[in-house]
Amino acid sequence: MQTGTLYTVSAPSGAGKTSLVKALVDSDSQVTVSVSHTTRACRPGEEDGINYHFVDRDTFIAMLDRNAFLEHAQVFDNFYGTSRDWVEETLRSGRDVILEIDWQGAAQVRRLLPDTVGIFILPPSQQALRERLTGRGQDEESVIERRMEQAIDEMSHFVEADYLVINDDFQAALRELQSIVVAQRQRLQRQQLRHGPLLQALLQRD
Ligand code: GDP
Ligand code: ADP
Ligand code: 5GP
Repeated sequence: MQTGTLYTVSAPSGAGKTSLVKALVDSDSQVTVSVSHTTRACRPGEEDGINYHFVDRDTFIAMLDRNAFLEHAQVFDNFYGTSRDWVEETLRSGRDVILEIDWQGAAQVRRLLPDTVGIFILPPSQQALRERLTGRGQDEESVIERRMEQAIDEMSHFVEADYLVINDDFQAALRELQSIVVAQRQRLQRQQLRHGPLLQALLQRD
């Protein structure tokens, strides 16, 4: 039975992780993205169940207590967590799963599931990062300042990833992300599972 590949995609806030992952998922029906639970407030334009499952602190802590999260972390002043059941079921169904999570979460997942593929997305400059955070128009100035401060911290963890994508030209970065997913599917072990009968037949002598 072929299971899907688990990816973590990490980046400082504003690097383009959400837009790139959305474009990747839209272009490849085998790839799905996990919807995290969060205690942060819903931003204008966001929808419960689509961008996040928005829950209050008590609900989050109750879920934590019953081990509902594969991983969780506190980012800025909010809690974020990944649903264990959803991820495991989706991987079992053969689809690839992307977790858009911070470096703390990626490290937890890697320890738990060592086959996880880690991807890091970086902006082309600090200036571009600030412009994107401002241009998105969804956070207040004080929030943007805090996110800029934390960005350097988050970015320093790129060395823990398997793949690095610089999101300068969006389409180029998307192609690089798609190539990572395609290359992963051609790895020998996966191809052996997918093409077992063919590989056996090719080596047969009569
Ligand atoms: P954005 O990065 O500006 O889009 O802001 P978000 O509120 O979407 O994400 C905030 C941070 O939480 C990011 O660093 C995400 O990678 C991280 N994050 C989101 N979902 C999860 C999750 O389920 N688990 C963990 N550990 N981190 C998450
Ligand atoms: P993240 O999820 O990492 O916080 P987003 O996907 O929300 O980032 O992107 C932040 C902002 O930057 C959005 O307004 C998005 O449209 C813009 N953006 C993303 N990639 C690029 C790019 N390559 N060039 C210019 N703007 C970009
Ligand atoms: P935002 O509040 O801007 O949506 O997200 C802030 C940060 O939290 C981002 O870096 C995002 O990747 C991270 N994040 C979002 N969901 C999760 C999650 O479920 N787990 C972890 N560990 N981090 C998350």
